[in-house]
Amino acid sequence: MDNKPKKKSELNATETSLKIIVFYVIIGFTWILLSDQVIKLFTTDPEDLEIIQSVKGIFYVAITALVFYYIIHRQLDLYVNTIQTLKKAYIDLDEGHNKSVKLENKLFQIAYYDELTGLPNKFMLEEKITSYIESHPKDALIGFIYFDIDEFRNINEVKGHAVGDYLIKSVADLLKEKIEEPNILARMGGDEFVIAVFSLQSLDVFMTTIEAYLASIRKTFILDEDHFFITYSAGVALYPDHGKDYLTLFRHADAAMSMAKAKGKDQIVIFDDEMVLLIKQQTEILTQLRTAIQHNEFSLHYQPILSLTHDDVIAVEALIRWNHPTKGFIPPLEFISLAEKNGFIKDITEWVFKEAARQYKAWPIERKSFRISINISAVMLMQDNFIPNLSKWISEDNIDCSKFTLEITETAVIHDIQKSIHVIKQLKRYGFSIALDDFGTGYSSLTYLQKLPIDTIKIDRSFISSITESTDDFHVLRYMVELAHHLKLEVVAEGIETPEQIQMIKSYFVDYAQGYYFCKPMPQTRVLEYFKMLEQVKKEK
Ligand code: C2E
Ligand code: CA
Ligand code: CA
Repeated sequence: MDNKPKKKSELNATETSLKIIVFYVIIGFTWILLSDQVIKLFTTDPEDLEIIQSVKGIFYVAITALVFYYIIHRQLDLYVNTIQTLKKAYIDLDEGHNKSVKLENKLFQIAYYDELTGLPNKFMLEEKITSYIESHPKDALIGFIYFDIDEFRNINEVKGHAVGDYLIKSVADLLKEKIEEPNILARMGGDEFVIAVFSLQSLDVFMTTIEAYLASIRKTFILDEDHFFITYSAGVALYPDHGKDYLTLFRHADAAMSMAKAKGKDQIVIFDDEMVLLIKQQTEILTQLRTAIQHNEFSLHYQPILSLTHDDVIAVEALIRWNHPTKGFIPPLEFISLAEKNGFIKDITEWVFKEAARQYKAWPIERKSFRISINISAVMLMQDNFIPNLSKWISEDNIDCSKFTLEITETAVIHDIQKSIHVIKQLKRYGFSIALDDFGTGYSSLTYLQKLPIDTIKIDRSFISSITESTDDFHVLRYMVELAHHLKLEVVAEGIETPEQIQMIKSYFVDYAQGYYFCKPMPQTRVLEYFKMLEQVKKEK
């Protein structure tokens, strides 16, 4: 097939050349014979004939030269053009090839590498681990550490995404230098990274290595002119002990990381089988949480908040309790975060509101300043239907909003300040008083305080417990109280456990206190007994 057109063009060339030659010979001979005959008709003079013969020869040469010029030029032109076209086609082909190689590389880069840090992404990680396991069927031993930046979300929200990206890139750049092939550092997305170490010698060696890696990035970063001390929570899983394939390894390292977070962050946790049990239990709890309301398993405890100047109870904080039929008491922090994740928090908040409203009349509400505090989860606050829902509950139960304080955590507010301001303003219009809960735990700057239409700040227990030990915190507390008072806000100190702490917060003019020292959270009837006891003591004074 391939040869056919070539043969034909060769044949054509020979044929055309032969035709030209035959034509040329015929014309030549005819010219020679006929021209002599024609000339003889006009003259026979030998001298004339000689001249005419010379002219005829010159004329013939000139004509044939022209004809040959035309034919050769035409052929050479064709030839040169063909070569040039071929050359161009070849260059185009080459460029096309280069382009497609480039495109292929680019697609590979996009598919397997992270754009921000240039690190391999999760797909590359999965491929590397899977192919390593396949090529080392007997002796593969892989260490897998999954970690993220503690409080990254806050930094992102307070400082903006560009600063968040900068931090991620800085962390990646610092680690990149340390990790050598064939080991791999991958970015899984967000602030999450994985380091996989191949041909591991032992868990101990692995732990020493990764502890050193993490220690090298556990430090102060200057972000947009502010200093942030950055810590990490990490989970470790090993192949083949903790998982026989990539996905299981990943899931188990993730469970270990969640454990590191739950234990207070800034640490490395190694996966163990108990965690599988824990994950199973959490799923179980979630299922049971859905029926807890119908089964009447929730109750409210209240903890008094006392005035430091008059030794008087000015409010009670409602704290939910879950009495599980088989597991017993489950602390709110455990199930609230689960409920937040699966959307059940709306039903819980509704239940708390309605229960607090039901028990409301028994409190000394005739006292002008007495209030009942209710905790509003960050997730609820940010939901678009929060205000409409709340409004429904208020009218259904005829709630006097001026007798209630809503406690909103500081981290919820800094998550989206503009939206928070908008929601808080609406809440205030209903008559609610607003307290900023767990104050001092976020990465917040104090300046946003003046923007928020709140009434009270509640200084977090962790802060209070450290003031007796650290003079630094002591100064910060003093500044916080001064600033709050300057902004006409009242200050509650949470988690007061000792007389020394009371002395200290009194000396800095904190207005109110709450804590085990005065009274633990208890059912309403018992808190009312506590009130009576306080009255008695006062009378006796
Ligand atoms: P929170 O709002 O900061 O509540 C104060 C927590 O500190 C309560 O824990 C309380 O029992 C505890 N506490 C009070 N005084 C002391 C003290 O002197 N020492 C110590 N060690 N602890 C003290 P609880 O009841 O376990 O609640 C924990 C968190 O769960 C609450 O923190 C709040 O964020 C959340 N929570 C509780 N009830 C509700 C609720 O009805 N709705 C929502 N969304 N969250 C709730
Ligand atoms: Ca609270
Ligand atoms: Ca609190």
